[in-house]
Amino acid sequence: MRIILLGPPGAGKGTQAKRLSKEFGLSHISTGDILRKNVLEVTQLGVQAKDYMERGLLVPDDLVSQMITQRFSQPDVRNGFLLDGYPRNINQAETLEQVFLKENLSIDFVIYLDTSEKTVLQRLTGRRVCSNCGLIFHIKNMPPKKAGICDACLGALYQRNDDNEETVKKRLEVYEKEVSPLLEYYEVRHKLHRLSGDEDAEIVLNKIISLVSAN
Ligand code: AMP
Repeated sequence: MRIILLGPPGAGKGTQAKRLSKEFGLSHISTGDILRKNVLEVTQLGVQAKDYMERGLLVPDDLVSQMITQRFSQPDVRNGFLLDGYPRNINQAETLEQVFLKENLSIDFVIYLDTSEKTVLQRLTGRRVCSNCGLIFHIKNMPPKKAGICDACLGALYQRNDDNEETVKKRLEVYEKEVSPLLEYYEVRHKLHRLSGDEDAEIVLNKIISLVSAN
């Protein structure tokens, strides 16, 4: 199964991708996670991407395209994948089509998690992420059993430095301008499925599972 998850920051793409990849044995490809790892490891890509990420802007397409081309040349993608955070504009969607053509792959579902600004702000400013396994918590909606500690691996939880209110607003602006044209792009290709991202993660997960199982 090959799925693209679309939606604003805070729509729950990462949370759903983690659960779905477990449920269906798919590779979770998150361009945000790959970029953050590069920033942490101070690679050449990380150094080039850091400033854009901290300002809530898109990392230039050529850098991200190289990264995604390389990721899709790895054998695990043949067993299916969930793409989370890519594509983020029409140019990236066209690059993806080229990559798929080259690798002989195609997309089964593009799932759009339609989420209100109120939900996004509330979720992102309270989000905490495990520095070890990447599990996502929320200080109110999904608190860890012990404050600051991951339930699954006891790793330390941290707040992403782009999850503050000011940067979130910038990320939402970028989303409106760059990402929302992708809805039409996939709609005319008959791939787009819309679901509400405002509902609880469990409900959204079940709706996605019903959708992919019925098609
Ligand atoms: P995310 O974890 O998906 O919210 O991404 C965090 C940040 O990484 C974004 O605000 C961008 O700066 C950068 N980023 C992630 N994916 C992409 C992409 N496909 N194109 C450009 N920048 C990206």
